[in-house]
Amino acid sequence: VQSVVVVGASLAGLRTVEALRRRGFTGELILVGNEGYPPYDRPPLSKQVLCGDWEADKTRFRQKQGYDELDLDLRLGCAATRVDTDARLVALDDGTDLNYDRLVIATGATPRRLPNPDGLSGIHVLRGLDDVMALQQELSDAQHVAVVGAGFIGLEVASSCRKLGLAVTAIDPLQLPLSPVLGDEMARELMELHVAQGVRFETGAGVAGFAGERTVQRVELSDGRAVEPDVVVVGIGVTPNVQWLRDSRIELDNGVLCDAHCETSVPGVYAVGDVANFHHATQGKHMRIEHWTHAVEMANAAVEHMIDPAGAAPFAPVPYFWSDQYNVKLQFAGMRSADDEVRVLMRDPEKHRLLAAYHRDGALTAVLAWNRPAQLIQCRRMLGEGAQLSAAVEAFGS
Ligand SMILES: Cc1cc2nc3c(=O)[nH]c(=O)nc-3n(C[C@H](O)[C@H](O)[C@H](O)COP(=O)(O)OP(=O)(O)OC[C@H]3O[C@@H](n4cnc5c(N)ncnc54)[C@H](O)[C@@H]3O)c2cc1C
Repeated sequence: VQSVVVVGASLAGLRTVEALRRRGFTGELILVGNEGYPPYDRPPLSKQVLCGDWEADKTRFRQKQGYDELDLDLRLGCAATRVDTDARLVALDDGTDLNYDRLVIATGATPRRLPNPDGLSGIHVLRGLDDVMALQQELSDAQHVAVVGAGFIGLEVASSCRKLGLAVTAIDPLQLPLSPVLGDEMARELMELHVAQGVRFETGAGVAGFAGERTVQRVELSDGRAVEPDVVVVGIGVTPNVQWLRDSRIELDNGVLCDAHCETSVPGVYAVGDVANFHHATQGKHMRIEHWTHAVEMANAAVEHMIDPAGAAPFAPVPYFWSDQYNVKLQFAGMRSADDEVRVLMRDPEKHRLLAAYHRDGALTAVLAWNRPAQLIQCRRMLGEGAQLSAAVEAFGS
């Protein structure tokens, strides 16, 4: 392999080029990104940056080391528009064509928006630095924020806005937001945390539309209720960035389809991170996972296969994510199904500490922690080993 092109200069793309150099790849390495900024970290955007604890600059990856040691051709502010897998060529919007021996697709995802036919201002999404800066500007003279979609991003925005002293209303079509991820009991605990911090919930109805003069003034719900915020933040999920691959032979389905080595339907072309819909080697099904740690682990797995195809182990991660809300570090590992039961192993309400095990037919399926990072990491390992619920009970409690 003489040249590798990586498209998408964010977490998954950067970790791919770093892993390639670490594994001894000495050929040409090109990293293409359509944002104007050097690669930066997204989790702090809805947390430390939004609530004003961090300057935006602090989110940059490789602040100290810089990029020289990676010997990288870094093309920022440049979008890939097309790939020709027969000619092994990626076309960029500045007119350049890049040839590759191996291509890595790391183009992530874009937030979904709600219809805004009148083009009202004051309606935001949060994915990148430009988004957080635009939102911060409007929050500076706002009093009331409506968060549409009480998923993790929405609830982090709610938490940061409460820290800023703003009134917050969270709107979600589900009666119990996040219950599909956490189950009813644990979703209720999280909702109660927000209620205790002063967040109002309007749940059980979706958004029918926005109203206002030039700027948004009302969010109308499908059952007739209305909320009157100064600013709206919409967090209703993302769509993978695959438009530029439409005319290629690379198979797409809810992102870029790839196998348990992160390789797509076209040999030599890999997909990593939020954009990749990969075949989980032990679950036996495809999944697209939109979490930070997953992007890092998948980048490493793709590089392993690129460097040593015969020796690389199939990628079979135990999914993991965290979220910071108020003084709670929430962490979740594993794969919970709708009919799993949950058992609380440890609880200290005063310190907001909690460890809960999800299980089915005696087997441990997932673990949720609040402010219990060491136990969560241990449980993630146990999940990887296919542990039983009894093992978790023995290790941690009741
Ligand atoms: C506000 C926020 C908070 C988060 N908090 C957490 C958290 O607490 N815990 C957690 O586990 N996860 C969190 N995540 C998720 C995590 O950040 C993502 O999983 C991670 O960023 C995925 O990395 P990626 O490189 O696959 O995709 P992305 O970070 O989306 O990067 C893709 C890059 O490719 C670029 N691109 C797209 N199309 C093209 C093109 N055609 N040509 C060139 N470049 C292109 C994009 O502009 C972008 O820069 C958060 C995400 C957000 C947005």
